[in-house]
Amino acid sequence: MTDLMTTASSARRAVSSIFAGLPASDGAGVKLTRLIGQPRLPDLDPFLMLDHFGSDDPDAYIGGFPSHPHRGFETVTYMLAGRMRHNDHLGNEGQLDPGSVQWMTAGRGIIHSEMPEQIEGLLSGFQLWINLPARDKMTAPRYQDIPPEAIPTVDLGGGGSARLVAGSLAGRSGPVEAGATAPLFVDLALQPGSSATIPVNSGHNGFAYVYEGSGDLGTPAIAIAAGQLAILGDGAILDVTAGRAGARLLVVAGKPIGEPVAKYGPFVMTTDAEIREAIADFRAGRFAG
Ligand code: MN
Repeated sequence: MTDLMTTASSARRAVSSIFAGLPASDGAGVKLTRLIGQPRLPDLDPFLMLDHFGSDDPDAYIGGFPSHPHRGFETVTYMLAGRMRHNDHLGNEGQLDPGSVQWMTAGRGIIHSEMPEQIEGLLSGFQLWINLPARDKMTAPRYQDIPPEAIPTVDLGGGGSARLVAGSLAGRSGPVEAGATAPLFVDLALQPGSSATIPVNSGHNGFAYVYEGSGDLGTPAIAIAAGQLAILGDGAILDVTAGRAGARLLVVAGKPIGEPVAKYGPFVMTTDAEIREAIADFRAGRFAG
């Protein structure tokens, strides 16, 4: 028993598959790279979508994401550079500065707009969609707007650091109060050639997305270049070694929900009947108040 537990808690995660992003357009013509939620990778329970947006050309994003609804899941917007302004039909509004995160639980319904703005010519960030279990889909909408200074930077030793948005790392906890999927969300910055060991809950589905530089990921180590998404096999630990130019990467994991997914645009429910209800509620103005 002891031996088995030791083995389980030290099991190294391997890279099980690698995906390139798909150029896509969403909102009012915002050009982005879709990593999860594309034909070859429709989802990775509990993750429904991962987009990387960013450009030094305002024409690629200035139309933003005008008023649109969501129901049944969470959206996580993490800004690297530039700003996102948002407001919703309940009167909530805010501004996401570089390095901040907005963790929005859409629950039974939000109608909002998300408008990107460059700062000194730069705009870059991510949006991740995380499913909610059926019992939480109609919960009250909730925002966790987390400014950059509230996200701890954890020193990993040996030339690596991590911004800890959600989950636990090196005895610290991220600021996000997470629900049933208990997500880990870290943004790693590794100096050239440096290594890091990231604990990831066994049984949770996970991925790593290298957005700058390159690295060797998993055990056995697989070379991953910038722009590639690595899906992780199971295990308790992810090993990462940065390449010659260092590496910036997101490491994200969450507890799979294991329920059917009925998806129609911005509505993600468990059954087709619930999708029809979401559309009818939205058209009838029943998302308001
Ligand atoms: Mn949205």
